[in-house]
Amino acid sequence: MTEHTTGSTESLTLRYFDGRSSRPHEVRAWFEAGQLHLRGADVEHQVDVRQVQWPERTRRGPRMAHLPGGATLQGADAAAWDAWVQSGGRSDSLVVRAQQSWRGVLASLALIVVLMGAGYLWGLPWLAREIADRLPDSVENQVAEVALGQLERFVRPSELTPEEQKAVEQAWQQVLQAHTAAQAARGVTVRPSRLLIRSSRIGPNALALPGGTMIVTDDLVRLLQHDGQVIAGVLAHELGHVQHRHGMRMVVQVGVLGFVTSLLWGDYSGVLATVPLWLGQAHYSREAEREADAYSAQALRDAGLSPAIMVTLFERFALFQRCGRSVLKPDVSANAADCKPPEGSQDESETGIWGLGFASHPADQERIAFFRDAAAR
Ligand SMILES: [Zn+2]
Repeated sequence: MTEHTTGSTESLTLRYFDGRSSRPHEVRAWFEAGQLHLRGADVEHQVDVRQVQWPERTRRGPRMAHLPGGATLQGADAAAWDAWVQSGGRSDSLVVRAQQSWRGVLASLALIVVLMGAGYLWGLPWLAREIADRLPDSVENQVAEVALGQLERFVRPSELTPEEQKAVEQAWQQVLQAHTAAQAARGVTVRPSRLLIRSSRIGPNALALPGGTMIVTDDLVRLLQHDGQVIAGVLAHELGHVQHRHGMRMVVQVGVLGFVTSLLWGDYSGVLATVPLWLGQAHYSREAEREADAYSAQALRDAGLSPAIMVTLFERFALFQRCGRSVLKPDVSANAADCKPPEGSQDESETGIWGLGFASHPADQERIAFFRDAAAR
């Protein structure tokens, strides 16, 4: 056929049965743009190649293809037929395969999205725990170094007097040692930690970094009016995060997400760069917070203290949110009923830095009720 357009294949003369009558039509058949074209004296027909049921090539004998609507196409010369289908298949297969594979790609993408969604909700926390619990300390120490490096940007040496700092240290050591002994009796080893008291513009807060470094800010000590037992309760909560490796789990989660993203986008540079991101913005899950609260209650009981003292913390946080920094001054009474509200809105960039800090967790009634109940038990 000379009138074939570019991209078509050579034609073959075949017998065509239209499915309505038993009369055969002699047609020229060729492939063009994914279509099987048939043309004869009284036939002008084209069919999507994918709608044609092609015979298996391995069989001997005449070839017959089934077309939609009961029509058939028959060729007596099997070799010529096979060569013709192959030539047509070759030029069309790219299109067909591309179409099929694009459908495949879309289906795969949809599947990945669903799997990632499910993985993010359920699989990722589980995976992060499994990985974090198996990571050697050397890895955690490397992450701790990055985290500490970030920390340096936000903290300065404490402005509390040496005596005030010492009082906090001693109150904490008392609880830590009693708790460590009680845990040892229960056959549990308390993971190593260290306490840093630091001045910071982030306000009253405490947090635990991977590697066991715990930071309490001057402002938290001031907010709690130097009440060593409540401060120790806060630090016991942070120790709970250390003990359960919540920090490393978060890093692993963000790292796994970053790694998956790297796989998808082919850029691996971002994985370690996510650590500062994590430090600034991540929040522990409510489950992690409950674990840390439970740990705090246990540690306080180990030291002969009532978990109910933690209620003070939430009351003081509520007061801080209502009155602002004025409640950090030493001469302000515990109730500060006549406090002035903070000037302007609180700076998000300052309050939002310590996503992992104690202050980022709203002092909800559930947590207050937990410590009250823990005291009653
Ligand atoms: Zn926490």
